[in-house]
Amino acid sequence: VATFAELQLAAPVLRALEEEGYTTPTPIQGRAIGPLMAGKDMLGCAQTGTGKTAAFALPILHLLQTAPRDMAHRGPILPRALVLSPTRELATQIGESFAAYGRHTGLRGVCIFGGVSQGKQVRALREGVDIVVATPGRLIDLLDQGLVDLSGIRILVLDEADRMLDMGFIMPIRNIVSRIGSTRQTMLFSATMPREIMKLADSLLKDPVRVAVTPVASAAPMIEQSMYMVPRRMKSVLLEHLLQEAAVARAVVFTKTKHGADKL
Ligand code: AMP
Repeated sequence: VATFAELQLAAPVLRALEEEGYTTPTPIQGRAIGPLMAGKDMLGCAQTGTGKTAAFALPILHLLQTAPRDMAHRGPILPRALVLSPTRELATQIGESFAAYGRHTGLRGVCIFGGVSQGKQVRALREGVDIVVATPGRLIDLLDQGLVDLSGIRILVLDEADRMLDMGFIMPIRNIVSRIGSTRQTMLFSATMPREIMKLADSLLKDPVRVAVTPVASAAPMIEQSMYMVPRRMKSVLLEHLLQEAAVARAVVFTKTKHGADKL
C-alpha cells in the first residue's frame, strides 16, 4: 500500500494523519491496517520504531468511529477497545498516539497505570471512554474494586507481549481476558516469539493474520563504526592507543563485566 488514502480510513482519521505529516505507511502499517479494518485477528512480530502503534491505533479508531456506540446501554459509555501494555511509559505513549490520530473523531480514551493515585483514572471511566490503554496491574486493581466494566470490549490488543510475560503479567493478562467476551477482535504484538508467546497467541487469537517486519536500522548515519579483532591481552593497549590517536575528548566505554570495568 503506497498511501494512507488508499486504505480508506475514516475521513477524520485521515485528516489527523495529514496534520501529523504522515504520508506513507510504514511496512507494518501497509500490511496490518487493511486486515485489521476488515476485523481480522493479528499476530504481529515487530519492534518499537517500526510504526506498530499506528498500525493498530489507526484501524481501531476507524472501526470505533464507523461503528455506533451502544445507545441502549444506560450510564456512561462503555469502553470498546482495550490495549494492554507492559509499562507506564509505553501506555502513555500509546495513549498519546490515540489522542493525536483520534483528535477529530470525538472518541475518548484513558490511560490506566500504577504509581499514581487512581482518582483521575476512575473519574475518566465514570465520565465514559471508548478506549482504555492500561498496564495489567492497575487494571486488575480497578477491576477488583468494581470500577471498570469490560463487558463492552470488542477489540483487545496485547502490545509488547514478550515484555509483559517477562514482567510476570501472565496471570493478570489471563484474568483480564477472562472478563472479556469471546466475540472480539484480538491483536498480539511482540518483538520476539518465544514458545510461551506462541502458546498465549494460540489461546487468544482466532485464525490470525501473521505480520512480521524486520526492525528499522538503529545506527545513526553520522556515526562511523569500526571493529577491531584483537586478542584479549591487547584490548586495553589498543583502546588507549585509539583514544590518544583520535584525540578523543569524551568517550563512553562499555565492558562486559563489573570486574572488567573496574580493571579498565
Ligand atoms: P512506534 O514503532 O509505534 O513506536 O512508532 C515510531 C515512530 O514513528 C513514532 O514516533 C511515530 O510517530 C512515527 N510514525 C509512525 N508511523 C509513521 C508514518 N507512517 N510516517 C511517519 N512517521 C510515522
